[in-house]
Amino acid sequence: MTKAMIPAHKDTIMVHCLDTPASWAKTKSIAQIVKEVTRWHVKERGWSGVAYAIIIGPDGSLGKGRDLDGDGDVWDETGAGAKGWNKNVIHLALTGGKGGSADDEFNVHYTPEQDVALRKQIADIQTIAGRKMRVMGHNQVSAKGCPCFDVPSWLARAKAPTATPPAARAVNPLAALIQAILSAFKRNRS
Ligand SMILES: [Zn+2]
Repeated sequence: MTKAMIPAHKDTIMVHCLDTPASWAKTKSIAQIVKEVTRWHVKERGWSGVAYAIIIGPDGSLGKGRDLDGDGDVWDETGAGAKGWNKNVIHLALTGGKGGSADDEFNVHYTPEQDVALRKQIADIQTIAGRKMRVMGHNQVSAKGCPCFDVPSWLARAKAPTATPPAARAVNPLAALIQAILSAFKRNRS
């Protein structure tokens, strides 16, 4: 991919699932996964290409999706992830999610590697864009389970604590013991 750009009209990142059983992707490379999902969308649904910009496999690997103009850049495409939400949206999809519902926990359907990869991809897109973008799940714009977790609360969990409060600093038992001995010693001297 050449130096990627996120077009100015892209203001939203939307997360999806593939609605596949966890076992489905396990034996496939990310290239095979993208190829198969492309076949579903093109041959079975009659779309012009795979719906998503990126597909994230169970091992956290990223597969490049929709690239209708074949320029190697998936960010400039109008996806096909959600009706009325395509022109301005970059669609990311996770393998898995079969039979899930909107209020499931992330780890019911997805791997820790997918958690890391999805967070990184969301961050990377905004870094490339040089601006904050809205991040949402498909289930926020449609009466669907997809992606079978609540994206806003999952994202909120990503926020690292800004600073370690003093009370939370680990008490080193040895240091505490030395401190106690020292203060006892001082008391005895006075
Ligand atoms: Zn979806």
